[in-house]
Order: sequence, then structure tokens, then C-alpha cells
Amino acid sequence: MAARVRALETILTQKGLLDPAAIDVIVETYETRVGPRNGARVVAKAWSEPEFADWLKRDATAAIASLGYTGRQGEHMQAVFNMQDQHNMVVCTLCSCYPWSVLGLPPVWYKSPPYRSRAVIDPRGVLAEFGVTLPVETKIRVWDSTAELRYLVVPLRPAGTEGWSQEKLADLVTRDSMIGTGLAKEAA
Ligand code: FE
Repeated sequence: MAARVRALETILTQKGLLDPAAIDVIVETYETRVGPRNGARVVAKAWSEPEFADWLKRDATAAIASLGYTGRQGEHMQAVFNMQDQHNMVVCTLCSCYPWSVLGLPPVWYKSPPYRSRAVIDPRGVLAEFGVTLPVETKIRVWDSTAELRYLVVPLRPAGTEGWSQEKLADLVTRDSMIGTGLAKEAA
């Protein structure tokens, strides 16, 4: 795969269709400046400010952009809120669509065929492999990302975090909890 990508990049560069420097900037940006901390701040704000949570539910793209998180693969966002009786989990069954602007680049397993197929066939089994066991009464809803729409899971706010600052709350929000393959860390 790496060799094929290199070959394609070389041809496109030779034809003048691609500027390697531009690719470097994009990769560097998403490797070092954009990552799950962005999403964690969105979640912490939604936990703390009911008005922001409402906005995030209604128009996630605009609510997220208000924090400055915009750009590639984040053009059309939808936030899905976990509830006691429903857990949300995100996959891209076709390829690897992922909300870069809030989560950075996708983990390798997210792009792997086993995750993509099994997340929809056996979400509970996949969750167990991530160490997550939910009560049987909790429904699991799986959202299939597309090039048009990317999802951000808003995990349940952990108990015992009343009065916490958004910064402290954001530390509990893991990348996996925003994909739905994990839960937010406990307050302890
Ligand atoms: Fe995709």
C-alpha cells in the first residue's frame, strides 16, 4: 500500500497536479495540531452548558466551528448523545470516513475490515473486545459515516464531576469514547 501511494504521489507531482509541500502541511497539521483534544473540549462544553449542548444537537457543524474546529472531513458533523438507554457507536463500513477536525486522524483499527464489518453485525461483541460491557437493556445504535456526514459521540458525563471545570472534564473524554468504542473515564 505504501509503495502504491508513493507511486501515485510521484505521478501526480510529475504531472503538476500535486504539490508535495501541501501534502506535508496537511499531514503535519493533523498529526500535531488537530487531535482528540478538540473533540474532548466540545464534549466538556456540552456537559457544562445546556445551551451549547442544544446547539450541538441541532447543528453540530456550526456549534463545533464556533470553537474554531473546522476544515477537512469536518464539513458536515452530527453529534450523537449517549443516554442511559442508548449507546452510540460510529463506523465507516465503506472506507474510513472520520471527523478529522475534532478527532484528528483515525486509528488503524477504525480503518480495518474486521472493525468495519463487525461493528454493524455484532456491536456488543466489538465493544466487549474494547473492554466495554453495557447493561443488556441499553440499546446500541451504530452510525455509518459517509463522505457527506461525520459523527461525534457525546459520552455520558461521569458521576461525581459536578462543578468541575471544562478543562478538567475534558481530561476524562477519550478518543474512543467519542467514537463509541469506549466510555468517558471515571472521576476517580
Ligand atoms: Fe468512509
